[in-house]
Amino acid sequence: MSNPKVVVVGAGPGGLAAAMQLAHAGCEVTVLERRDRPGGRTSAIERDGYRFDCGPTFFLYPRVLKEIFASVGYDLMKEVPMERLDPQYRLTFGGGGQLDCTPDLEEMDRQIATLSPADVGALARYMDDNRVKLEKFRPILESPFSSFTDLMRPSMIAAAKHLHPFRSLGQELQRYFTDPRLVIAFAFQSKYLGMSPFNCPSLFSILSFLEYEHGVWHPIGGCSRVSERMAEIAEELGVTFRYDEPVRSAEMEGRHVKSLTTDHGDYAADAFVVNADFADWITRTVPNTKRKRWSDDAIAKKKFSCSTFMLYLGIEGIYKDLPHHSIHISEDYEQNLREIEQTHTLSSDPSFYVQNACVTDPSLAPEGHSTLYVLVPVTHQTGSIDWEKEAPAFRELTLDRMGQIGLGDLRDRIRTEHMITPQGWNEDYAIYKGATFNLAHNLGQMLHKRPRNRFEELGGVYLVGGGTHPGSGLPVIYESSRITSGLVLKDFNGKVARGEMAEK
Ligand SMILES: Cc1cc2nc3c(=O)[nH]c(=O)nc-3n(C[C@H](O)[C@H](O)[C@H](O)COP(=O)(O)OP(=O)(O)OC[C@H]3O[C@@H](n4cnc5c(N)ncnc54)[C@H](O)[C@@H]3O)c2cc1C
Repeated sequence: MSNPKVVVVGAGPGGLAAAMQLAHAGCEVTVLERRDRPGGRTSAIERDGYRFDCGPTFFLYPRVLKEIFASVGYDLMKEVPMERLDPQYRLTFGGGGQLDCTPDLEEMDRQIATLSPADVGALARYMDDNRVKLEKFRPILESPFSSFTDLMRPSMIAAAKHLHPFRSLGQELQRYFTDPRLVIAFAFQSKYLGMSPFNCPSLFSILSFLEYEHGVWHPIGGCSRVSERMAEIAEELGVTFRYDEPVRSAEMEGRHVKSLTTDHGDYAADAFVVNADFADWITRTVPNTKRKRWSDDAIAKKKFSCSTFMLYLGIEGIYKDLPHHSIHISEDYEQNLREIEQTHTLSSDPSFYVQNACVTDPSLAPEGHSTLYVLVPVTHQTGSIDWEKEAPAFRELTLDRMGQIGLGDLRDRIRTEHMITPQGWNEDYAIYKGATFNLAHNLGQMLHKRPRNRFEELGGVYLVGGGTHPGSGLPVIYESSRITSGLVLKDFNGKVARGEMAEK
């Protein structure tokens, strides 16, 4: 008897991790990828000898991927060496003040004392509380949510008292810190989910905790190197990759998917694991008449994360005094957040993030040169901004703003350049509304209310990646691959010959 066949749609981090685990368990796995390389938003952009991460640059909580590598017989830290960063990042505030955020908590307290003496000691309290909170929430992040009744699980009940559903992340941090800059220093991480701290559930205070407790890591070669190595390992485990093969349509019997079609043929399988951006893929590939809960109209009404305006700059020389990661918070941060999430307009004073990776990893640029990655959070596409018209002026504004972190001479040093706008995320990366961090993570769109790992509307279809449970961000995306692979194998009901993977 031959082993079950699985087709994975998309070689992003979620698809790669699922492919590795399913192949290791004995499935015959084919990955169909629309682009020419693995990694999706976690792939490399290479130009004129410079190498940039396209999306993720913060590698957090390696524990999940370490466990996945170990489960298929590999050691993550050997396969992709990583450095823990200290400082983790520099935060500068448009209204004045700076923090070099470090996992050395005594040094962090000294810096807090300079900024706001009244807040000394708050960090220790924050860390202690969030250590407990993460432990309570881990079982929830590690298991599927298939229905409302899953909310009644003992783990959910144990975590409920830490959930505070009506408290935002910003309000949660105000319980610890009186200085608004310190509130932002421990709440801005909601931007990793593409959300304002003032709309993001308080649960996500665990994000900054993860940084301080478990580290901010730089994989040598960039986060994209992790994806590349995962694709190599998947091949070693027997996975077949078919690049430049976008899935165009689904062949169905009733609501059950039988095969997927690309320009090169039909791919029948026993299970289809979709890693492509959920909202983009489903609206393009599966007829609207086959969907109810996730019809085109229902999806259009959902809340989506912000998008990002990106500049990837290959520059002459290196800014030695600029740390690996710098985040600049605009003078009127709340106004900036309103422009992104409510008025859907461009800010004249945006917050931004710059990665100066060559201070840690010179391999990313030719000798004597370096790379700068500039990310400006902006609204997802609503029709309010014509990026073809606005992009050149927004580029100028962004480069002007670099003076705020000491890069006043940047324009003269640019040797190569690449730009991605929300329109580019949508058209070139197949992301619905260019919303780079998927469906927003408000409580109405989480757990069983997110598109489910065993997709509830189509037989044979499973989801993995930022569009399903637990959500966006690499650690939880990798976690989604464990949940989804577990469900696929469970549904195969022991029909996998090697069956090495533990069922959840
Ligand atoms: C600018 C930016 C910065 C980010 N920074 C961080 C960070 O610092 N840390 C962090 O943890 N996370 C970060 N993220 C969020 C998240 O970790 C990444 O977006 C991650 O790559 C998402 O992984 P995924 O598995 O959901 O899918 P993706 O990476 O989107 O991969 C999906 C794959 O599916 C393919 N595909 C789509 N349609 C089809 C089709 N029809 N047929 C075949 N293939 C298809 C795509 O080409 C792609 O390769 C960032 C994201 C962005 C955009």
